[in-house]
Amino acid sequence: MTRHLTLILGDQLDPGSAAFEGFDPSRDTVLMIEASEEATHVWSHKARIAYFLSAMRHFAQELEKRGIPLEYIRGDSGPASLSSALRDALSRHRPQKLIMVEPGEHRVLRDIVSACEAAGTRYAVRDDRHFLLSTAEFRRWAGPKRELRMEHFYRVMRRRTGVLMKNDLPEGGRWNYDRENRAGFGVDGPGRIPPPPRFRPDAITREVIAEVEQRFPHHPGRLDTFAWPVNRKQALAALQDFVDHRLAVFGCHQDAMWSGEPFLAHSLLAAALNLKLLNPREVIDRTLAAYRARGIALASVEGFLRQVLGWREFIRGVYWLDMPALADANHYGHRLPLPRWYWTGETHMRCLSNVIHQTLEHGYAHHIQRLMVTGNFALLAGIEPRQVCDWYLAVYVDAVEWAELPNTVGMALHANRGRFTSKPYAASGAYIKRMSNYCRSCRYRPEIRHGAQACPLTTLYWDFLARNRDELAGSPRTALMARNLERLPKQELDAIRRQAATLRDGLDLI
Ligand SMILES: Cc1cc2nc3c(=O)[nH]c(=O)nc-3n(C[C@H](O)[C@H](O)[C@H](O)COP(=O)(O)OP(=O)(O)OC[C@H]3O[C@@H](n4cnc5c(N)ncnc54)[C@H](O)[C@@H]3O)c2cc1C
Ligand code: SF4
Repeated sequence: MTRHLTLILGDQLDPGSAAFEGFDPSRDTVLMIEASEEATHVWSHKARIAYFLSAMRHFAQELEKRGIPLEYIRGDSGPASLSSALRDALSRHRPQKLIMVEPGEHRVLRDIVSACEAAGTRYAVRDDRHFLLSTAEFRRWAGPKRELRMEHFYRVMRRRTGVLMKNDLPEGGRWNYDRENRAGFGVDGPGRIPPPPRFRPDAITREVIAEVEQRFPHHPGRLDTFAWPVNRKQALAALQDFVDHRLAVFGCHQDAMWSGEPFLAHSLLAAALNLKLLNPREVIDRTLAAYRARGIALASVEGFLRQVLGWREFIRGVYWLDMPALADANHYGHRLPLPRWYWTGETHMRCLSNVIHQTLEHGYAHHIQRLMVTGNFALLAGIEPRQVCDWYLAVYVDAVEWAELPNTVGMALHANRGRFTSKPYAASGAYIKRMSNYCRSCRYRPEIRHGAQACPLTTLYWDFLARNRDELAGSPRTALMARNLERLPKQELDAIRRQAATLRDGLDLI
């Protein structure tokens, strides 16, 4: 009879995780479940499904090699949902206890707990030690604060870990080199940035790819470009490649975008981190080692570490603090459906078509593409947050709800009313023109606010300001946005608002 059934989810592929503590191969069994529902509850990109399945099967192979007893339920044979597969397994094994590490999704935790309760099985949910801060510690840090600010949290994390600290002061004298991280590329573009490594699919990945094509043929995205690191060895190689070749150029152009350049100097490590093939501590350590050994600019190193030590930990803390209400937040009461072209890229707006096409091709877009292109449009147009979240959770290989939801609801859509952002990330076409070359080949003009050539983002931006004028005027951080409206003659604002209403009536046609 099984003593402990140790449940390992698809984003918990770490042999050092707390789930294995006290594991006794003579009495305990690991349970891994490929539930098709996880690929269908949002309309998942094929590459996202393939990434999870391939990484899970590689991990299972490693466990078997180590002689760890494992029941692996494949998606092509087992029940569709995680909870029904778990209920079956509990009734077969009749374990004294189910052991697991905190999952990355509120819904999954709820389902597992109800399956255990229905089966009368005791369960233990252990802390996820992958993260540098536990959910309880984050909760303590947040306390009763109504507004949470990443910058304050980041300083606490720098002090706590000693990362880039000297005698309790930030190395270089400043906490944050954000200003240096925002340069555009200029007319000639990014020049040659060493491309990220591509990992040729091995037999396991090839089998998964064929299976995904066969089981999920109508899902979005492509698989012929699949080259992601799906096991620990590849993930470490991807990390080292980033540190050796792109970290030094990551810094100043972090926010810039360029047609035909989906990756630029970004690390592409989020999926490997989120599935726990990589630990954030080793990402931080290798980054610091390169900084010390090769004298890489502090602005680049700090800019990158801020993402891993600051944003990633902060976002995860916020998710567990504010769920489940976070999922229903809709501060502006936005209700419009997601335009169909979010799934095809077939829009005349070059910025959106570029970012969506690259997303469909690779399951990847970098942060500013997500925040200031697809997210910004959804905010300005007034798309219902739930539908926007489902899209983000579906289309990126790194998409996991604890990371996706706060970024979408909180950062991109300001739907939780500035709980952790001081103002909405709303921008007109002028921002996209400054940060990319997309506008050069677009039929619209970023500086034109209404009329046939007007950039839809610009029209919608001014309309957004007008719709929310009182709220924007009421906060010192956004008062300038409201004041800018006053510079517009009434006639022009009326024309903009009429055009915005027409745009919103026919979003599928832009
Ligand atoms: C609307 C929206 C949805 C997002 N959804 C996800 C998601 O589902 N999963 C996810 O991991 N990230 C998400 N992000 C955050 C960020 O865009 C991605 O982590 C990043 O683009 C991944 O690419 P990269 O690995 O090349 O990152 P890099 O630019 O190289 O950054 C380094 C690492 O820092 C971490 N990081 C950076 N920014 C964030 C952030 N805001 N939140 C959390 N971690 C961060 C990631 O682990 C990333 O790998 C989202 C952002 C937005 C605006
Ligand atoms: S003009 Fe507007 S729609 Fe076209 S690429 Fe620029 S920002 Fe996007």
